[in-house]
Amino acid sequence: MAIKILTEHINVPGIETFDVYRQKGGYTAVEKAIKTMTPEAVVEEAKKSGIRGRGGAGFPMGMKWGFLAKPDGVPRYLVCNADESEPGTFKDHHLMKSIPHLLIEGMIISSFALGANKSFIYVRGELMYVIRILEKAIEEAKAKGFLGKNILGSGYDLELIVQSGGGAYICGEETALLESLEGKRGNPRNKPPFPAVKGLYQSPTVVNNVESIANMPWVINNGGEAYAAIGIGRSAGTKLISASGHIEKPGVYEIELGVSVEEFINSDEYCGGVRKGHHLKALVAGGSSVPILPAHLIMKTANGEDRLMSYESLSDGGFATGTMLGSGGFIVFDETACIVRNTWNFARFYHHESCGQCSPCREGTGWMEKVLHRIEHGHGSMHDIDLLVDISKKIEGNTICPLGDAAAWPVASAIRHFREEFVWHITNPKEASLPGAVYQGAMELV
Ligand code: SF4
Repeated sequence: MAIKILTEHINVPGIETFDVYRQKGGYTAVEKAIKTMTPEAVVEEAKKSGIRGRGGAGFPMGMKWGFLAKPDGVPRYLVCNADESEPGTFKDHHLMKSIPHLLIEGMIISSFALGANKSFIYVRGELMYVIRILEKAIEEAKAKGFLGKNILGSGYDLELIVQSGGGAYICGEETALLESLEGKRGNPRNKPPFPAVKGLYQSPTVVNNVESIANMPWVINNGGEAYAAIGIGRSAGTKLISASGHIEKPGVYEIELGVSVEEFINSDEYCGGVRKGHHLKALVAGGSSVPILPAHLIMKTANGEDRLMSYESLSDGGFATGTMLGSGGFIVFDETACIVRNTWNFARFYHHESCGQCSPCREGTGWMEKVLHRIEHGHGSMHDIDLLVDISKKIEGNTICPLGDAAAWPVASAIRHFREEFVWHITNPKEASLPGAVYQGAMELV
């Protein structure tokens, strides 16, 4: 049985309450950190653990903490990014609603490490019931002396505030989130300065994902080196994967990084296989913004090695033959899925969610959506395929925030790997635009 760092107790009845969480060893890491460690020692453990940001970027968390400007009397903030909105990703939602004290314990430890006396959990606005669960848990922790003034008699104070998100995907970009938290429209900021230097209210700020922070209790209890020993290479620890699409057992799974993609899809411990009677056609491994993979590149890399659930293996071959682990939004497609329709659907999402600040994204996402719409609805021309590639290249790398790349990659990769489907839509407009029509040509299936 694989190791469970985050979900070991997730199905224990009453685990959302302080008392049951405490019975299962909860808050011992806060006691250890605050009573026996210095903030610098906690940062050191985070660095040793090798945890990489679980929101999608995969940047080492301890290193990010190390960028925080030195204390000089101004407030410092920790902000938890719980604005999970990436299509296909729902693991933070699951963690917060099921075991809220794990995140709160992680927030206390991380805030202590960073010298923050006021920290925020910015939760996707649509998840009002999760906000209530977190607020209740915070009240419980406060009543037991783990939050508020003079925590456990240590002299350390921490106020933890849950903030409802602005209801926009872009508020999950860390600087847009900070703008929103300050009460403004959630527009991403130009960088530099980065949040570690000028973040919330122009003060040094760290923004970390829910899952990243929730790992900290285990790291403190067991040591950073023990965490780094789990997983594979620079992909340390475990990862929550939101599995959806054409599989037998959709859900949230905690995997040890390094398990093979084949095992993750086919084993009964995880997805239980592609739905019965169907074949694997494509995979979006890390949320809607990462490049889509065709069947022959899912289980094996282009070199014929087993593809693993790790940052390195999933990106093996670059975007030519690889993808990204991203946020772990794992969407499986069987042969009944139309790649053109799916690509149009993703493009529609990014066009809708573009904040409009920079023209390549504002205009480009709209153009891509329009061109994909006409191909899907039987009005495309062969020139449109190259036009889509051209637009995606003009967006990628030319925008203020990563939403531009996130919009460009799904389109470019769909054409790279499924060009014949786009051609079929253009050359068979009547048939292809019928509801439910799917290309049945020489597709590679597994
Ligand atoms: Fe806004 Fe898009 Fe530019 Fe990001 S890339 S700042 S979402 S217009």
